[in-house]
Amino acid sequence: MRARIDAACHAAGRDPGSVALTAVSKTQPPDAIDAILAAGHRVFGENRVQEAQGRWRERRAGLPDLELRLIGPLQTNKAAEALELFDVIETLDREKLARTLASAAEASGKTPRVLVQVNTGAESQKAGVATDGAGALIARARDFGLIVEGLMCIPPVGDDPGRHFDLLAELARRNGLDGLSMGMSADFETAIARGATHVRVGSALFGERIAR
Ligand SMILES: *Cc1c(COP(=O)(O)O)cnc(C)c1O
Repeated sequence: MRARIDAACHAAGRDPGSVALTAVSKTQPPDAIDAILAAGHRVFGENRVQEAQGRWRERRAGLPDLELRLIGPLQTNKAAEALELFDVIETLDREKLARTLASAAEASGKTPRVLVQVNTGAESQKAGVATDGAGALIARARDFGLIVEGLMCIPPVGDDPGRHFDLLAELARRNGLDGLSMGMSADFETAIARGATHVRVGSALFGERIAR
C-alpha cells in the first residue's frame, strides 16, 4: 500500500512524505491489526467509539507513538470518551459538537485536534456540514479553542470523486487549512493527485471487512 501511495505521489509530482496512510481497522480481526503494527505502522482509523475502545485501549498503552483517528460520526454524549481515546477527530460537523468537545477538553486538559467533515455531495443520509456552512463552523471551532487541522469528505457512491476532492481542497485553501483527509481504497490515487494529506484505506490493506 505504501508503494502505491508513493507511486501516486511521484505521478502527481508530490513528496511521498506529504501523504499519510490511515489504516482503517474497523471490524478487522485482532491478528490483522497486530500484523500491521508489527510491520511498524502506527496510524489507524476507526469509525465507532465503543468498538475502538475494545480494540485499542490495551494496545494503546504499549504504543506511545500510536495515532488513532476517529472517522465515523460522533454523538455529543460520546464526545468525552472519544477525546480520551482518539488523537484526532475527523468528523466535526456541527457547532454543538464543537462546543461539547471544548468543554470536554477543559475537563480533561487534552486539546482536541479535529478535521471538519464536509458533506460535499449534499446527501441527506450522510454526516458532514454543508459546503456553504463549512467556513462558519471552522471559525466557531477555532473560537472554542479546538485545533482545526483540516477537512474530510466521503464522496457520494457513483459520483466522480475528483470533483469532490477538488471542492474540499478549495474550501481548505480558502480557510487556511493544510490537512485534507480524502480517498479510500477505490479512489486514494485520485485523492493524492488532488492534494490529499491523509488517505483512509481499509479493505485494500486488510482485505474485505467482516460483516458486523
Ligand atoms: C470504512 C471507511 C473507510 C475505508 O474504506 P475502504 O473502502 O475499505 O478503504 C474510509 N473512510 C471512512 C469514513 C470509512 O468509514
